[in-house]
Amino acid sequence: MKQSILIVDDQKANLVALEATLADLDNVEIISATSGPEALSILLKQTVAMVLLDVQMPGMDGFEVASYMRQRSKTRHIPIIFLTAINKEESYMFKGYESGGVDFMFKPFDPFVLLSKVRIFLELDGRQRQLEDALSKLKQVKTSNEVLLRSVGEGIIGVCLKGTITFVNPAAEMILGVHSSALIGQHLYEAVIVSTHHAEKTGWFHTKLYKACSEGRAFHTDVGVFRSHHDKMLPVEYTASPTHSPSGKFDGAVIVFKDITERKKIEEKLHYMAQYDALTELGNRNLFSSALNNSITYSDHSGQSFALLFMDLDRFKQVNDTLGHDAGDELLKEVAIRVAQCIRDSDILCRLGGDEFTVIINGEYAEKASVRVSEKLIQALSQPFEIFGQELYVGASIGIVYYPEMGKDTSELIRNADMAMYQAKHEGRNRYRVFEPDMKTQVEESMALEVELRRAVETMDFQLHYQPKFDMTNGQVVGAEALLRWKVGDKMISPATFIPIAEETGLINGIGRWVFETAAVQVKQWSTRFDLPEGFRISVNMSVQQLQDPDLVRVMGSFIDAANIDPGLLEIEITESLFLERTEVNLRNLAGIRGLGSGIALDDFGTGYSSMGYLAQLPLTVLKIDKTFVDDVHKPQGSAIISAVVALARGLGVDVIAEGVEQEDQASRLIELGCVTAQGFYYSKPIPAEELEQLLESSFVILDSAVSSAANSGS
Ligand code: C2E
Ligand code: CA
Ligand code: CA
Repeated sequence: MKQSILIVDDQKANLVALEATLADLDNVEIISATSGPEALSILLKQTVAMVLLDVQMPGMDGFEVASYMRQRSKTRHIPIIFLTAINKEESYMFKGYESGGVDFMFKPFDPFVLLSKVRIFLELDGRQRQLEDALSKLKQVKTSNEVLLRSVGEGIIGVCLKGTITFVNPAAEMILGVHSSALIGQHLYEAVIVSTHHAEKTGWFHTKLYKACSEGRAFHTDVGVFRSHHDKMLPVEYTASPTHSPSGKFDGAVIVFKDITERKKIEEKLHYMAQYDALTELGNRNLFSSALNNSITYSDHSGQSFALLFMDLDRFKQVNDTLGHDAGDELLKEVAIRVAQCIRDSDILCRLGGDEFTVIINGEYAEKASVRVSEKLIQALSQPFEIFGQELYVGASIGIVYYPEMGKDTSELIRNADMAMYQAKHEGRNRYRVFEPDMKTQVEESMALEVELRRAVETMDFQLHYQPKFDMTNGQVVGAEALLRWKVGDKMISPATFIPIAEETGLINGIGRWVFETAAVQVKQWSTRFDLPEGFRISVNMSVQQLQDPDLVRVMGSFIDAANIDPGLLEIEITESLFLERTEVNLRNLAGIRGLGSGIALDDFGTGYSSMGYLAQLPLTVLKIDKTFVDDVHKPQGSAIISAVVALARGLGVDVIAEGVEQEDQASRLIELGCVTAQGFYYSKPIPAEELEQLLESSFVILDSAVSSAANSGS
């Protein structure tokens, strides 16, 4: 590395002479200054190895320059050789030393002496710089090591050959909650490691840790336990590695460790998650199958039977589809809470996924209890749910099996319970069924029917029958209800059987459109042919799924347009128990239907759950009193309900009609109670279109006999 010498003299000639003398030096740069201030300003900017300083200079003399240099840390240690032509007296020299000079040369000086002096100073400066370099490097390494030890998240403990703690890093102090002073000097196995082996002090040489390290290997464990603050046990993972003396002899170990409490918690959580459903906090499929296995084992041992309930929500998919998954999740949580309230602590409730729940009922009276629990569940789940401010009706279907008579192992039990549940669904939902051996055939039949129904939908192989509605006071036909008929071979399948399947499979939408279109075409013919009275209407049943179709009103409108009819001739019937969700789509569709000009009847009225206040918000035109109330019309309660409905209809400004009138005295009593319109077997069963047409012929003036009911033959 090049060194620099600063020469300062006010006489240019002296400077030249000095430079010539110093030119002999290798690898040295000579910087010159002609005044004290110039010299100081150079010194501020540049590092020099030494200064040759003339004493006698105008303005600032050499001693002043030297004293300035001594005041600044950067220049304080730079050696100075004063050059002077005068005054060899000691006092003068003393002043020079006082100001910080290190040597004097007297002019005229001997170049040889000057050079050798300068060489010594340069040599000294070179060594000094090397030393400084080495020191600063050392400092760097030390600080970076310290930073490392201090900043690592892992705890680090150093021990000597005997296992005595010699070093503890801050992370170790923090993790253990103990100050290093309480650890240093203690034995590792007394102060830190909790071991089931008797490994303290004497045993130390037999520990796996010591053995591994003494053989030059590291020892690792992830199931370690350390003693922490207040003797608390801390789960840790640690590695002990041997350390060696500078001569390479094994002289101790460093233990690097990590607190794994969090990981333990996560592991426990994972274990829990593997057993429990995160959404409802009920047991999941894993827990269910181990519980079922346990119940079987216990039952085999004790001879006591147990029951397995399989439950599926009836209208969960709809909630999910129309209100979204968040609403679906919320609903499942609420369901879980209600279900839990219906069972005892000893019963095991699980959610298998989706909307499938299971209950295992153990104990002496499992069979009786299973029926009671099922009834409770159905009752509890048919009550409305309030989800995100919406009132929802859900319902559930349940299949029940008993061990061992209805299945010898888990898979057979599950299969049969599922089958019983499927059967409950196909019988109209919101009910339970205990498994029966011949259920397999029933379920197979249902499935076959489903296949058959899909086929029928392709060609719309259905018919509409019409049940006329009468004014009971004068026997006049005032309208009719269109009812769907399906013939498979020569067997007539009841809509009560296939409508649930159609709803379950989503086929109902296509079927419903066909029904509406067919009724519209039919109405067109009748209204053209007959002078129908004011208020004459054909009503069409509509499932709640249809009501949730955002396209419903447009499609209905297009059918009405295509048939070119007065929309007031058509009315839809929605079931109260089904017309439950006041979803936006539902309400918009209802308003849309009224906007088209068609009527809306609330079917099976009284069997559902609608509050009166809620009814007032719906754009209804008719209330249909359910058959069950007509059956009870002679009982005080039945008649009270009917008068109440009649009053309510008046209050709402809507019409009222009774359905299922089978006897004359029911008719007369209904009239007394203020209900004058009715349909029922007493007046007429549902009949094919051509038969209804005959009835219309005998009731109304024929406008145009030329219009024949061609469509009738097709329907
Ligand atoms: P609903 O809408 O309550 O229809 C009235 C049901 O009662 C009809 O049964 C009818 O035949 C029957 N009925 C009428 N008068 C009497 C009577 O005096 N005594 C008795 N015991 N029964 C009477 P049906 O045709 O078997 O229909 C059953 C259900 O199927 C209907 O009940 C309705 O909910 C559904 N349904 C029928 N057609 C359609 C349709 O086109 N679309 C939809 N979505 N559902 C339909
Ligand atoms: Ca109806
Ligand atoms: Ca009805």
